[in-house]
Amino acid sequence: MNSSLWYFPLSALVNAVTSTVLGSYFLLTSFRKRVARHLFFFCAAVAVWSYGYFLWQLADTADSALFWSKALMFGAIFTSISYLHLVLVFLQLDKEKFYKVVLAIFYFFSFIWVIANFFNYFVAGVEPQSYFKFWPIPGPFYTPYLVAFFFHVLYASVLLFKNYRIKKGSEKIQTALLLIGIFIAFVGGSTNYPLWYHLNIAPWGNALVSLYVILTVYAMMKYKFLDVKVVSAELFAGLFFIIFLVDVFLSKNITEFIVRLIALVFTGIVGIMLIRSVRQEVKRREEIQKLAAELKAANEKLIELDKAKSEFLSIASHQLRTPLTIIKGYISMIQDGDYGSVPNPKIGEVLSNVYQSNEHLIHLVNDFLDVSRIDAGRTEYKFEKVNLKDILEEVVKQNAHRIKEKGLKLKLIMAKNLPKVSADVEKIHHVMFNFFSNSIKYTDKGFIKAELFRDGNWVVCQISDSGIGLTPADKQNLFQKFYRSENARHKSVEGVGLGLFVCHKFIEGHHGEVFAKSPGPGKGSVFGFRVPI
Ligand code: ADP
Repeated sequence: MNSSLWYFPLSALVNAVTSTVLGSYFLLTSFRKRVARHLFFFCAAVAVWSYGYFLWQLADTADSALFWSKALMFGAIFTSISYLHLVLVFLQLDKEKFYKVVLAIFYFFSFIWVIANFFNYFVAGVEPQSYFKFWPIPGPFYTPYLVAFFFHVLYASVLLFKNYRIKKGSEKIQTALLLIGIFIAFVGGSTNYPLWYHLNIAPWGNALVSLYVILTVYAMMKYKFLDVKVVSAELFAGLFFIIFLVDVFLSKNITEFIVRLIALVFTGIVGIMLIRSVRQEVKRREEIQKLAAELKAANEKLIELDKAKSEFLSIASHQLRTPLTIIKGYISMIQDGDYGSVPNPKIGEVLSNVYQSNEHLIHLVNDFLDVSRIDAGRTEYKFEKVNLKDILEEVVKQNAHRIKEKGLKLKLIMAKNLPKVSADVEKIHHVMFNFFSNSIKYTDKGFIKAELFRDGNWVVCQISDSGIGLTPADKQNLFQKFYRSENARHKSVEGVGLGLFVCHKFIEGHHGEVFAKSPGPGKGSVFGFRVPI
């Protein structure tokens, strides 16, 4: 046999082995799945065709060549229709009435070709052609079969192409691979036909059929894991491996064989490493995407919960405020003697305690209300030109008795000729009161210093004390909702950690800044804010 003639039976054998291996895999592992079942039928058709092809090439009598060339046709007839069916299943169109009819018609014709193939209507005989001693002579049914064959392929390609245009992500890649597969099959497989019509082109593309089967199976099986990077890496590595493998078989002597074999092993290892790293990267990316989506969902839920909580807080606070204000009013009236004098001094003392506790509650409820308004973005500001000096003086006056009670020294330093600033008197009063009141609360001995001065285009108000001071962690978290330092918790049971949060938000509403400084725990602290002039 002419040495180049080895290529034809060999290419058929490669196709046969490839499709047998892949077909058996589906038969043994996942035959219950629809796509796998159709992949099996497709591989089986290619295998029958390829074994027939191989044996026909090896035949040395006209009779046996005719027998095998007829036998291979049974596979050939079902290659294209099983492929079309596979594509319809893959696109989930096979259950639609229209496509059912289309398939029924094509199968009907396929069975006609099968019957014709039992007689001499399909392959009429064999004759010498080009390199081949026995090439089949087409019978009357051969050309219609060929038309149907190309029609199946074309139809499947059009459907896939439509799918390619609408799909995204891995389904798009999958469809693209299937289309590339069809193209390869078309280029390779169609070299099998010219000789039937006495066109002198030998079937050199036959081996490409394996590639077509491999690509189809790869695309269908890996579907969910397809990613451009992974696919490119795998195809790239696979291609190099095949090139190096062929190179090994073409070695002329043992040294060349060994060198090329080492190169092959090396390529294999590098290829596997490459694919692994790409896969890992893709997997990590997918995990991150999944986590990000989960985080987003959780965040949205939290925002909703926070909103619900603010609403609850707002409603509850409103409901609480009214009775508290009424209680305050009545106690004041009793204390003022509006209902006659208090008979027992002990009762007077108790009343004063009740008043204090009620005041504390009102303060707390007000804080809650402020927070719920801030959270809902419903804080309203009434800006007017004000002198911060007046407000600070009032705050100091309101707290004077507490300073006295604790025996603290008060220093008040206010710069002269301070310009007025645009501010909401109530809010600024609230902030100053909070800072001042905190300083007293957290200072047992020493001093409280209140200062008001100008710094460039700002007016700064700061309250310093010689109290419990701040840790670095405190400095970071002070202005957050519900934060209370460890020290503060020991020191005073009063307070929930909302005051500074509200101050911070109010000053933000004035386009200003709050600040808190301290040399360390036990060394006092400085709280303050600046607002633009
Ligand atoms: P509360 O005083 O009700 O706990 P605040 O929001 O007013 O809430 O203050 C938050 C925390 O900031 C306090 O718990 C305390 O830890 C700290 N803090 C505030 N003012 C001072 C201060 N003058 N000295 C030391 N720590 C303070």
